[in-house]
Amino acid sequence: MRGLCILGSTGSIGENTLDVVARHPYLFRVKTLTANTQIDKLAKQCIQFQPEIAVVGNAELAQKLKSLLPNSSTQVLFGPEGLIEAVMHHQVDTVMSAIVGAAGLLPTIEAARAGKRILLANKEALVISGQILMDVVAQSGAELLPIDSEHNAIYQCLPHNNQSNPLEVEELLLTASGGPFLHRPIDTLINVTPEEACAHPNWVMGRKISVDSSTMMNKGLELIEAMWLFQMPQEKIQIVIHPQSVIHSLVRYVDGSLLAQLGEPDMRTPIAFGLGWPQRITSGVKPLDMMQIGQLNFMPADVKRFPAILLAREAARLKGTAPAIMNAANEVAVESFLNRQITYPQIVQIITQVLENIPSEPATTLDLVLSIDQLAREKTKQFIRERQQ
Ligand code: NAD
Ligand code: MG
Repeated sequence: MRGLCILGSTGSIGENTLDVVARHPYLFRVKTLTANTQIDKLAKQCIQFQPEIAVVGNAELAQKLKSLLPNSSTQVLFGPEGLIEAVMHHQVDTVMSAIVGAAGLLPTIEAARAGKRILLANKEALVISGQILMDVVAQSGAELLPIDSEHNAIYQCLPHNNQSNPLEVEELLLTASGGPFLHRPIDTLINVTPEEACAHPNWVMGRKISVDSSTMMNKGLELIEAMWLFQMPQEKIQIVIHPQSVIHSLVRYVDGSLLAQLGEPDMRTPIAFGLGWPQRITSGVKPLDMMQIGQLNFMPADVKRFPAILLAREAARLKGTAPAIMNAANEVAVESFLNRQITYPQIVQIITQVLENIPSEPATTLDLVLSIDQLAREKTKQFIRERQQ
């Protein structure tokens, strides 16, 4: 029986995780749940799964949650310290890291330090901390299993399901759907609304990652994520547009073999893979019907349409603090776009401006990376204000 902490249980990944968990009452016990502001949803989850601890964003929300759980034994905590307690609970051996953005970084690092099994959906955490997180994992003996569908696919296609052997593996191929604007005339992107950007053709996801998918910054973050997870140089990671999202990614070997993982675009497959590892467990995902799909298409990613890919490649090449700067600028710019403060093309323009303004330096310590993350957020807000004047 595994004891679970689900960081971000009210999000898209969090809910899918609970869906898989509920199918296997004899394999998993939910010990701790965390959410930010969606108290009603969290209360329902607490009633169903009876965790030891539930964590919310602040003290006021904690009071609200308590009032919704009058006779419950669930302890209600709040804020960043609450997240750490949820991860460190002595009955938790597996942590689903599914908070969106940098807010998930510290609890993920704590889980790694404590040598727990980490199911990593929160790609931003790895993009920000890169080698630092990988080193903590190696030192503590934690298990890091990728949940992002592309990385999970690659993990499944690698020898012995672990590290890539540079002598055997020629390159990794990350597939990308191309998002909602793959064919939209580029000169009309200025008019894109948050609703259009969040309407992903194949996947139902949170709003931030949906916007990232539309700009393909998501694939840029995934390029950096793959570089760290599989210790592959960025030039050996290709991005391939595959609009059906059936092949989730591929590994090319030196002997001419190209191994792929296929499935329905449903995150419960990689989630079940991580939860059950090293066994396979049912996920509720319907079987892929090849006959119905008929054909699969592939094309290169057009960097004129998706300049975020170039930014991410450059950040991946520089390493150091560049990925953290890019990620912070992206988080702030996407939020401003969702709040209708900037136009859609300005997202990437502003990230470019921030990357030009803050030089990359070696990412030697977590404190340094966190302070650069803060600096990049402030600069991004400043550039957004300047554009509004
Ligand atoms: P979401 O917006 O649906 O959910 C985010 C969760 O994080 C919520 O539970 C929210 O309460 C919590 N949260 C947000 N801000 C927080 C804060 N400041 N402090 C504490 N908790 C906070 O997002 P999602 O789509 O579930 O994505 C979660 C992560 O998984 C992201 O990093 C995303 O890139 C990654 N991911 C998602 C998918 C997908 O299909 N949704 C696929 C691959 C990777
Ligand atoms: Mg992905």
